Amino acid sequence: MIPIIKPLMGEEEAAAASRVILSGWVTQGPEVAAFETEFADYVGAENAVAVSNCTTGLHLALLAAGVSDGDEVITVSHSYIATANAIRYCRADPVFIDVDPLTCNMDPALIEAAITPRTKAILLVHQMGMPADLAAIVKVARTHNLFVIEDAACAAGAEILWDGKWEKVGRVRGDAAVFSFHPRKVLSTGDGGMITTPHADWAAQFKRLRQHGMSVPDTVRHKSQQVVFETHPELGYNYRMTDIQAAVGREQLKRLPGVVKRRRELVELYRSELADAQWLHVPTEPSWARTNWQSFSVRLPDACDQRTVMQAMLDKGIATRRGIMCAHREDSYRDTPRPAPLPHSEAEQDKRIILPLYGQMSDEDVFTVATALKDITSDPAH
Ligand SMILES: *Cc1c(COP(=O)(O)O)cnc(C)c1O
Repeated sequence: MIPIIKPLMGEEEAAAASRVILSGWVTQGPEVAAFETEFADYVGAENAVAVSNCTTGLHLALLAAGVSDGDEVITVSHSYIATANAIRYCRADPVFIDVDPLTCNMDPALIEAAITPRTKAILLVHQMGMPADLAAIVKVARTHNLFVIEDAACAAGAEILWDGKWEKVGRVRGDAAVFSFHPRKVLSTGDGGMITTPHADWAAQFKRLRQHGMSVPDTVRHKSQQVVFETHPELGYNYRMTDIQAAVGREQLKRLPGVVKRRRELVELYRSELADAQWLHVPTEPSWARTNWQSFSVRLPDACDQRTVMQAMLDKGIATRRGIMCAHREDSYRDTPRPAPLPHSEAEQDKRIILPLYGQMSDEDVFTVATALKDITSDPAH
């Protein structure tokens, strides 16, 4: 059986977790602080704030942008549903625009037509680790005084060309980027998230709000020689990461460059194996983007039925997943405003399939998957 992914964790992560468990301080503390510093250094961010997961991080970023009752946030439907949910947590409305079929990311050309007097921010997604066209999106946003938040859930280790220099996603050119450390992503802490931002006041707000809006962090109170009474001047949340998770994250961060390198090699192998299957659409990177290949996917020709192909792959012992969902097709978002139909988003959900890709995968595994896929999709019965 070839699974869709295998988490890459080992003795180093286990030892890190054990060290924290035996230390006497298990939730947000020194390990979280160290992980934040190391993550900020890695992506080149001014500030990094760890949170419980990407969804809560997106909630805090939207709150910092002042998104509230009745505001609109322009985003894509073609994403994991958490993207839209974070907007709803602020009692604002997501406004869905379509994606560019080449990258599966927000089409910047569609933003302007979706702007109304209620628009407060743009929430873009670097889908499956492929960078969105950040430069074009930031340009429109600046013209219309909108905040730019990046859902970088999948994009740790991905890079964007900015002013002729390669930069990591997370070196924020808008207002904030938010990462996920769920096991389905390239760096995992079990669950977890990280917000990066150039705004020091946003970072300070994230640190208060993730810990119940407390005026004095418990780490400060713990070290104080004087008795300290905390207050709660604003509504906060419990969006903390634990020190156990952060210690695991620090080990995962050390692995990340190697993980991304191996994923790029495996994708090159897939690409050469699938080169003669012109009926399959294999994603390519725009000249200004280097993905971390959090997922590798192909788009099936119109004649192929997605479920039938996936079942035939499963019958050969190969796990696949369907394309990224569309929130507007879920009952919870059916009535959400859409300035225009979303044909590319829907086609990506219905015609794309995600193939196995993980660090421990052998070259032989890639040949097996590619051969099966070519056999199945060239057979008229599918
Ligand atoms: C995984 C994912 C999320 C949710 O991340 P959590 O850490 O599970 O909250 C949000 N957006 C996108 C695009 C994702 O892929």
